[in-house]
Amino acid sequence: MTEQENMELTERIQSVQERVAQAALRAGKKPEDIILVAASKMNDAERVRAAISAGIKVCGENRVQELLEKYEQHAYDGADLQFIGTLQTNKVKYLIGKVSLIQSVGSVHLGEAIAKEAAKHNVRQDILLEVNIGRETAKSGLLIEELDDAIARLSEKPSLHIRGLMAIPPIADEISKNASYFTEMHQVFVDILTKKYDNVNMDYLSMGMTNDFETAIECGANMVRIGTAIFGARPYQIVSP
Ligand SMILES: *Cc1c(COP(=O)(O)O)cnc(C)c1O
Repeated sequence: MTEQENMELTERIQSVQERVAQAALRAGKKPEDIILVAASKMNDAERVRAAISAGIKVCGENRVQELLEKYEQHAYDGADLQFIGTLQTNKVKYLIGKVSLIQSVGSVHLGEAIAKEAAKHNVRQDILLEVNIGRETAKSGLLIEELDDAIARLSEKPSLHIRGLMAIPPIADEISKNASYFTEMHQVFVDILTKKYDNVNMDYLSMGMTNDFETAIECGANMVRIGTAIFGARPYQIVSP
């Protein structure tokens, strides 16, 4: 990384932190109530380390293989590491003991696989349940009407700790469309919170990315996952003229 790249990264991080803080205030929250997760996919260990030096406290990866490679290179030292991507049950074993939170538990089957692996390692794994809020057939995640049953079944597992919900709304051309999904998610979050399930703590509502994180925070998110606004465009996002 050049000195210039390092400076630009630092500036982008400060700008995102400031925008998160302002959105928090608009939502009637304190800036420190919002957890900023840097989605670091396709950014190498050096860039991840630079981001941590510049103030990033939580990193989120969405591919197991990439996470393991960067983990070996001590990319995440000094930060909290979370998993935010699609997860196959046969890869769960690589994450236990490395990630503090698995955000993307979109089925009871996956939750059970995590419980089994966590039990083997004698740890209690924090998870979020991923909700398919847009009811998209191509997307993983629980439908709203499946949540109660999933919580009832997964909250029985002593090696799991449900800490909240995560959602990725459909790609929308209008931000107002996403706002309605975010608001609906917040309502679901509050409903579950009110039901007070044993062994479940509704601490985190994870939604909002580069294009819509301020809206998400205004609608009740307290965890946002931001990649592009922090690291710049990923290689495949750069469209040549
Ligand atoms: C990449 C990614 C993000 C961040 O996306 P940006 O639009 O680059 O901010 C958030 N959540 C998940 C699950 C991701 O894979």
